[in-house]
Amino acid sequence: MPATLMDGKALAERIRSEIADEVRELGDIGLATVLVGDDPASDIYIRLKHKAAGEVGINAKDIRLASQTTEDELLEQVAQLNADDAIDGLLVQLPLPDQIDEARVIRAIAPMKDVDGLHPLNFGQLLLGRPTHVGATPVGVMRLLEEYDVPLEGARAVVVGRSDIVGKPQSLLLLHANATVTTCHSRTKDLGDVAREADVLVVAVGRANVIGPDDVKEGATVIDVGMNRGADGVVGDVDPATAERAGLITPVPGGVGPMTIAMLLASAVKAARYRRKILAFPGG
Ligand code: NDP
Repeated sequence: MPATLMDGKALAERIRSEIADEVRELGDIGLATVLVGDDPASDIYIRLKHKAAGEVGINAKDIRLASQTTEDELLEQVAQLNADDAIDGLLVQLPLPDQIDEARVIRAIAPMKDVDGLHPLNFGQLLLGRPTHVGATPVGVMRLLEEYDVPLEGARAVVVGRSDIVGKPQSLLLLHANATVTTCHSRTKDLGDVAREADVLVVAVGRANVIGPDDVKEGATVIDVGMNRGADGVVGDVDPATAERAGLITPVPGGVGPMTIAMLLASAVKAARYRRKILAFPGG
C-alpha cells in the first residue's frame, strides 16, 4: 500500500492562521532579512518569507546589499538591526559571498533576535536540551511528525545530513524527543544499510534520489527536506518511488518547504515574546 502523504501545505496554512491571531494580540512585530548578493535561490526564499510575513501581519524589512559588500559593512548593518527597537527578529540569508566570514556574522546577531537559531548561544541551548530559537526547518519537521502522531520515544531515527541549518539541529530535536538517533553524512559507509534501520528517516542532503525505495524499511516515516532545482522543477532528495514502501512520506513540494516558512514566522513571534519579556531568554 503506498504511503500516506504528509500534507505540510495544509498544516502550514493552519499554523499561519494561528500565528496571525498571535500577531494581532502582540501588536507590531518586526522581522528583518538581510540578503547579500543576487543568488536566485536566495532571492526566491526571501520573497517567500516576506510574502508569508505580510500575510500574518508581521512587518518585514527586506534589506538587500550588493554582492561586493565587505564583512565590516555587513557587521555594521547587523549592529544597526540589533539596536533597532522596531526589529524583533533578524536573519542573514546564507550562503554569504566568499569575502565574508559567515561564523563571524552569525556571532554578531543579537541572540534574542536570531530567528534562525544559528548563534552559538541558541545552538548551545538546543544542545543542552533547553531550546530557545531553533532553525525553522527542523522545528517544522518535528511539528509534522507530531501532527501525524509518529511515535518518537524509543524509535530509531536516522538523519541524513549534518548541516548547522538542518541536519544537526534535527538530530538534536529527535534526541530530545527520546528517539535513538544516527546522523549520516558524506563519509557515511553503507548509507542504505543505516537508513533501512530507521523508523523515522529525515533526508537533508541536496541531491536528488540519494535515498530510494530499497533504502527504507517497510512502513517507515520518510521526511524529505531536499529542494533540488532541475529541468523538471523542484525535486526532493528522495526518489518518489519510495512512497511504495514508506508508511508516511512528505511530498516535494508541499511537505517540509511550507512548514519551514510557517515556523520562521513562529520564530519571529517567539522573538517578540522574548523582547517583551513575556518569555524569559537566558541571560536576557
Ligand atoms: P548542506 O549542503 O549544508 O548539507 C548537506 C549535508 O548532506 C552535509 O552534511 C553533507 O555531508 C551531506 N551529504 C552530502 N552528500 C551526501 C551523500 N552522498 N550521502 C550522505 N550525506 C551526504 O545542505 P542543507 O542542509 O542546507 O540543505 C540540504 C537540502 O535541504 C538542500 O536540498 C536544501 O535546498 C534543502 N533545504 C530545504 C529547506 C526546506 O524548507 N524544505 C530548508 C533548508 C534546506 P558532509 O557534512 O560530510 O559534507
